[in-house]
Amino acid sequence: MWAAHQTNTLGPPCNPKGWILHTPEEPADGDPGTPRWFAQYHANPLQRGSTHYFVSYLGFVFQCVPESVAPIANGVLGKPYPAWADPNVSLNRQTLSVEIEGYAATITQTIWSPQKTALDRLLDYGCAKYSIPVDRAHIIGHYEVASNRSDPGTLDIDALVAELQEEDDMGLTQEDKQWFERLLADFAKAQIHDVRRRAGALEGYEANVSLNDLLRVIEALSNPATDTAAVINEIRMRLSS
Ligand SMILES: [Zn+2]
Repeated sequence: MWAAHQTNTLGPPCNPKGWILHTPEEPADGDPGTPRWFAQYHANPLQRGSTHYFVSYLGFVFQCVPESVAPIANGVLGKPYPAWADPNVSLNRQTLSVEIEGYAATITQTIWSPQKTALDRLLDYGCAKYSIPVDRAHIIGHYEVASNRSDPGTLDIDALVAELQEEDDMGLTQEDKQWFERLLADFAKAQIHDVRRRAGALEGYEANVSLNDLLRVIEALSNPATDTAAVINEIRMRLSS
């Protein structure tokens, strides 16, 4: 029901290399007027537009256009293409677009934790999925590619990107994360000594075992339904291949 009408898109393909942030200039009230507008057919071509995602005031994420389809969102006007984009291809086919419910002039006052968290997670998700660098060059505002636009206005994109760089999925700083990983790795290695005795397994491989593999071993150990020896054997085979 929230899918954009196909006449409001350019159709496939879309190969995202960056994010473009927008405010739709509608009240920050959780009523998704913009996705509704995009879902309708508009006889006037000037009224045709869309977005991949819309993040509502209440923190709900609406997908209006599949990521493999180019919305009509980011016409480049009077500004250069971003350095990472091909200037011979519509920017709509090279970006993910998100509308953040609110107004350019007041978004910095109206955005609050549920909306902010939903936006952070969405940006993280897109960057991870398409190997988009989490930096200010690849997460940009509409105003940076169109001289006739000011959105997302007062949204502090610098701060947003800095936070995304600082936090991982668990909301930990890099320093916290490294400490936590060391702790887990130490714990897991102690477990492995135990496993080794029982499964005769990872001896000599400890140095090359990734945190992910260690966590799998711990998980297997704590779940009686899992064949720990098989898990370890699979890791061992991979490390020695
Ligand atoms: Zn815009």
